Amino acid sequence: MTFGGKETTMAKRIALFAAVALLLFFAASPRDMNAHKVEERERETKVMILNYHKVDNMNISLSVLPKDFDAQMKYLKENGYHTITPDELYGSLMGTCELPEKPVLITFDDGYADNYHYAYPILRKYDFKATIFLASGFMGKYDNYVTWDQVREMASNGISIQSHSVTHSSMSDLSDEQLQAELTESKEKIEAEIGQPVQYFAYPTGMYDFHIAHLVREAGYKAAFTIRFGNVDEASNLYAMERIPIFHTEDTFSSFLERIHYVPAFEQLSWRKG
Ligand SMILES: [Zn+2]
Repeated sequence: MTFGGKETTMAKRIALFAAVALLLFFAASPRDMNAHKVEERERETKVMILNYHKVDNMNISLSVLPKDFDAQMKYLKENGYHTITPDELYGSLMGTCELPEKPVLITFDDGYADNYHYAYPILRKYDFKATIFLASGFMGKYDNYVTWDQVREMASNGISIQSHSVTHSSMSDLSDEQLQAELTESKEKIEAEIGQPVQYFAYPTGMYDFHIAHLVREAGYKAAFTIRFGNVDEASNLYAMERIPIFHTEDTFSSFLERIHYVPAFEQLSWRKG
């Protein structure tokens, strides 16, 4: 009898669990229940932002092989993706610019020389735009960083040059005064060197908080990019935009496909941004 009683309790628990799970499922996806809401969602901005660091023949995770980078760009081209600039992304989020189908923002952090030697010719081959976030204090200091001449050449050929601070220090370790210097000096230096406005920022090491984001805005940036995994849409914070980091792995191409298709699949299940 005791056994039977336990079984009944278990059955009740399972039924309750199933009911709660069903309720959560439907509560979490009200947008799918309503046809006109679905249409509305299709008009929303949804942008994939890829984040690279190095493109060369080193066998480290931060460095995608040139042949792998080429294969990834070829995939994007053949599958109807269109590259955009940070200004186009910003305009779309402000409702002032219409994006092409399957928009993708290709970004590089730090400003390694290999971006010029390997990535840039491949981007040109596919007629792709991209964005490089420079740590301005590394320029002219280290041999494996781009030079201002290379930056100017790329800036006049579809590559947007933006800021990644001066010293690449983790921003949560800095005083307000230091933060302001990192934000302002890098912006002014790059603008002076390339003769174009610098209005976007990528957080060095990805570290940021609301206070840091506020200072980024105060320094005159329109938006900032994190390394939080996800696609950008209307729910995104302008000063904490999501990106999809792309790494060199055992099977780089499969990892690339998984990463770019995983986010939309997740969002389809009504995953919400935190
Ligand atoms: Zn960096």
